[in-house]
Amino acid sequence: MTTEFVIPQTQIAAIVDKIGGELQIKNDHPVRRPEELAPGECLVKLDFSGACHSDLHAVLGDWPVPPRLPLIGGHEGVGIVVAIGQNTAHSPVKLGDRVGIKWIASACLNCEQCRKGREQNCPHALFSGYNIDGTFQEYVVSYVNYVTPIPEGFPSDAASSVLCAGLTVYRAIKNSQTVPGDWIVIPGAGGGLGHLGVQYARVRGLRVIAIDTGAHKRDLCLQLGAEKWIDFKESKDIVKEVLDATNGLGAHAAVVTASSSKGYEQAIEYLRPGGFLMCNGLPGSATLSASVFFTVFKSITICGSYVGTRQDAIEALDIAARGLVKVHFMNKSLGDLKDVYDGMMNGTIAGRIVLDMANKC
Ligand code: NAD
Ligand code: ZN
Repeated sequence: MTTEFVIPQTQIAAIVDKIGGELQIKNDHPVRRPEELAPGECLVKLDFSGACHSDLHAVLGDWPVPPRLPLIGGHEGVGIVVAIGQNTAHSPVKLGDRVGIKWIASACLNCEQCRKGREQNCPHALFSGYNIDGTFQEYVVSYVNYVTPIPEGFPSDAASSVLCAGLTVYRAIKNSQTVPGDWIVIPGAGGGLGHLGVQYARVRGLRVIAIDTGAHKRDLCLQLGAEKWIDFKESKDIVKEVLDATNGLGAHAAVVTASSSKGYEQAIEYLRPGGFLMCNGLPGSATLSASVFFTVFKSITICGSYVGTRQDAIEALDIAARGLVKVHFMNKSLGDLKDVYDGMMNGTIAGRIVLDMANKC
């Protein structure tokens, strides 16, 4: 163990004891002692953590595999490495480095999936805030080989949401087989993933059709460079609106970032032949119903895209740190997390909420 930081015995943490249970803010949650860290583990003192809709899915237990309980959620953390496990060999990070924690906390890097560059599908992967304690606490245990360095000068609060929301849409858009000038539809465009998707799409030279609801999200999407806005609660015919915007031909790709199954409906219909449907949003029990005939006839590709690799994270952060993509966020405290979940459920949060860990109220 090596450390030069003063590490308290206890800390603030947001804990859920049972699925659907009340979120409790505890001020006396134990901090892992530096001498108890295993080789390869590190302790990160967090400054900020974004709140992702996946954290809400975890609390509600609406995914097929339930989270470990008691649950400390959170997987968009940025902070400082304050301790590294004894006998850690060849650590790519050192004490005092500013790093990011992602949904994938570690992967074995040796299995077939890892070797094929799909480390997020590693059967040994650990998930921050799902099967290990996440970033809704001040001190989080993570892994030296998997934390992501944060580019110098990029503010930590803005960086936090690139680590899941940004990374996820960046990879989906990167693999959407689109070229500059193509049309892309983003259902969920006003949310955490979606508003970053609008911008990563613009960086790629794509023309964006944003689908979400409400004046606030409409203004945000148009301000971020979407050319066409469709309010899914007001539109009488989403497919027609997409076709009208694209000279009757349909969009080249869709990246669905909506948290509800409805966001997936009609995507096959508004894609043009050769179109690419990227599935990002994770409604727990939804099924994807697509016309087999039109999927074949139109040569449509349907693709699941799950967070991203360490390299995707570095690329997504680099683009954001250079000011090409801006996280639209509001700072709140850990104590506000319950209200944040309520806002997510009601769909009232445009962009992201980032929790300031120094704000203890
Ligand atoms: P969010 O709540 O910030 O945003 C979701 C947006 O979808 C909201 O703005 C909401 O108004 C909108 N929406 C709801 N129904 C819609 C519809 N029918 N049409 C269009 N828009 C609709 O959530 P988020 O944090 O951006 O996460 C979105 C989803 O992505 C969640 O299900 C989350 O679990 C999932 N997710 C997936 C990955 C991955 O690896 N694929 C990573 C992170 C999050
Ligand atoms: Zn997430």
